[in-house]
Amino acid sequence: MAASPPAYTRILLKLSGEALAGGRPHGFERAAMQAVADELKPVLEAGVQVGLVVGGGNLFRGLPAAAEGADRATADYIGMLATVMNALALHEVLQASGIPARVMSALPVTGVAEAYVRVKALRHLEVGRVVLCAGGIGNPYFTTDTAACLRAIDIGAGLLLKSTKVDGVYDADPLRNPHARRYERLDYDEVLARQLGVMDATAVALAREHALPVRVFDMNSRGALARIVHGEPIGTLMAPTEA
Ligand code: UDP
Repeated sequence: MAASPPAYTRILLKLSGEALAGGRPHGFERAAMQAVADELKPVLEAGVQVGLVVGGGNLFRGLPAAAEGADRATADYIGMLATVMNALALHEVLQASGIPARVMSALPVTGVAEAYVRVKALRHLEVGRVVLCAGGIGNPYFTTDTAACLRAIDIGAGLLLKSTKVDGVYDADPLRNPHARRYERLDYDEVLARQLGVMDATAVALAREHALPVRVFDMNSRGALARIVHGEPIGTLMAPTEA
């Protein structure tokens, strides 16, 4: 690992639920969660504080259920509970790996997680605990991408890292089009105008309003997280236009 000091003191990592499923279509794969712990370790050892927002797509998403006729709000609450399950599963693996962590939920689930309270989250971060933010923003009709932007802003993270299956944002699907080109950098309006699908529009608008830099990268690329934290321009950066 590079000996240079980290470029950030605090980051927010967004993992989709799929990241906990490994190669499986649904559920958890312990090896995949262990890989997350392994990627986090050098980042924490470098003294970087880590907030983490986890999605729920490996278990349940509200929108497809609503498309099949379910009440949207109820389906979204089920989706939020899926994120709580994911946070609990990941918390257990992190703890077993010697990484101190806490689950804080925006949706009250008092038996299993603390309520998300900003000042308490900051305290956990300051003493080196990973804060696993569960329950999205606690309201239906939103996604965990929006929750990730909100939490990143709330905790004063210098960078939101959004992990995806490919190593950045492309002008076409790189898994289908061999000529697809990866963007190095995009501003928020380009992402919205070109409908690049980096995040939903609500999340992008929130990031734009607060000039929150978002780096899209592939967490499966070993060591990428730590290299980004040390300032390497891996993946695609969504940020305000450079002056
Ligand atoms: N969800 C919600 N409000 C939030 C965040 C999430 O209602 O603030 C619900 C929504 O139904 C969503 C599900 O939780 O589909 C799981 O989150 P998401 O789809 O963002 O997970 P990911 O795609 O990142 O795995």
